[in-house]
Amino acid sequence: PKQQEFPDPDGSPDIDEETFEEEVDDGSPQKTHSNIVFVGHVDSGKSTTCGRILVDKGVVEKRAIGRVKQDEDAQGGEEFIYAQALDELEEERRRSKTFECGHSMFETETKLWNVIDAPGHRQFVPHMIGGTSQAEVAVLIISARKGEFETGFEKDGQTREHIVLTKTLGVTHLIVAINKMDDETVHWDQGRYTEIKDKLSPFLKQSGWRPADVRWLPISGLKGENVLHRTDKSPWYNGPCLIEVLESLTPPERMVNAPPIFTIQEKYKESGDSNILGKLEVGTIKAGDEMLLMPINKQVKVKAVKKGNRTIEMAQPGDQVTITLTGIDEQEISRGYVLCSRTNPIHATNLIEAQFMIMECKSVMTKGYEAVLHVHAATAECIMTQISAVLDKQGKVAQKNPDFVKQGQTIICRFKTDIPICVEPFKVLQPCGRFVIRDEGRTIGIGKIIGISVKGDTKA
Ligand code: GDP
Repeated sequence: PKQQEFPDPDGSPDIDEETFEEEVDDGSPQKTHSNIVFVGHVDSGKSTTCGRILVDKGVVEKRAIGRVKQDEDAQGGEEFIYAQALDELEEERRRSKTFECGHSMFETETKLWNVIDAPGHRQFVPHMIGGTSQAEVAVLIISARKGEFETGFEKDGQTREHIVLTKTLGVTHLIVAINKMDDETVHWDQGRYTEIKDKLSPFLKQSGWRPADVRWLPISGLKGENVLHRTDKSPWYNGPCLIEVLESLTPPERMVNAPPIFTIQEKYKESGDSNILGKLEVGTIKAGDEMLLMPINKQVKVKAVKKGNRTIEMAQPGDQVTITLTGIDEQEISRGYVLCSRTNPIHATNLIEAQFMIMECKSVMTKGYEAVLHVHAATAECIMTQISAVLDKQGKVAQKNPDFVKQGQTIICRFKTDIPICVEPFKVLQPCGRFVIRDEGRTIGIGKIIGISVKGDTKA
């Protein structure tokens, strides 16, 4: 069969051979490593807020940013600076020609935060799907400015889609930061904050977010208020600032003893070596490990593991790391492939059975429906080959073998993909068992894999 190339949304060029200095792990006590993603409607202030953290934490120099932008007035003054912090990082990434996660990392007291997909200009949801599936924590930025919250939350706004995606893609904590509280239409008004919270809450619940896993706070990303420091402008809010919220979150339980599963986001060649960047979902990986690359069934060996520019001894579950491989040419690797154990490999299949929730569908959906399936970082064309049931609110079968299904329904169905994808049933391995179906640039629905087939029959 023809070797499939997964699309590369970055258009990332291959890496020139270049030598660079390596920092070696100094053995100092390790902080818990967490991945964080900023989501929200366009212009809600994701770049500004994230930039503010990176600048105030000293990760990116404000001066360096100012250099890029000398005609500040023409472009809107200070407000431009923080959003620009991310451009600066992107530039740096390009210049340094490594897929640097180190440079978009910041620290809190006991945790090390890796900002996934920091460059804020890609409003491209498929990309967000890859990024969000790597994150344990999502900060949903909502603009409180008059009219902006409303636009973002309308049917065509991105707020609803982002809420649903964070839940489906396995984010464990959601922080809803109601931003632009300093705006002249808002003036740190508690009423506006409460109004937004009251409107969003039911939708969050409906999307599967338990109130206990959601934190709320009012911020001004631009002024840095309630971001790194508490502000006195919201006496009605006594809670922690954003950084304090982050520090207080309990990290998700990590499956250290499971056979390793590493999902690949990017690949590049450096000094003749093949490198992969992605997330270790479960298990551990260290230099010298003999592993398997799926779905191509290729035996490879781990030469080195790096976090940012630092060589580390062993990658832990949840880590976003770069792995140098031997035994394979970089050309053979694609985004969405999985590095796993030889004795306990992940399944590769092109037929899955799923519980699927139809979120958006103009008319009805029937057998033969074609769309694009996204699971961890993998993407494949797919066709719905069977619809076996419609479920009721309790998850019981309400109708068997329907001729058609429609928006709002949860169904049991099968999808066949054009290429093999690496998946597991949701109950076995959540990160590789939940997926999103998209069509013509819109999220159609979300699903959980309940069975996979290796030879045509699906088995749970
Ligand atoms: P993104 O598309 O979500 O990344 O949004 P940006 O960070 O690029 O911000 C969009 C616009 O909102 C810019 O003009 C920012 O200056 C402005 N903005 C962002 N955060 C705030 C804030 O806290 N207060 C005010 N007043 N404006 C903000």
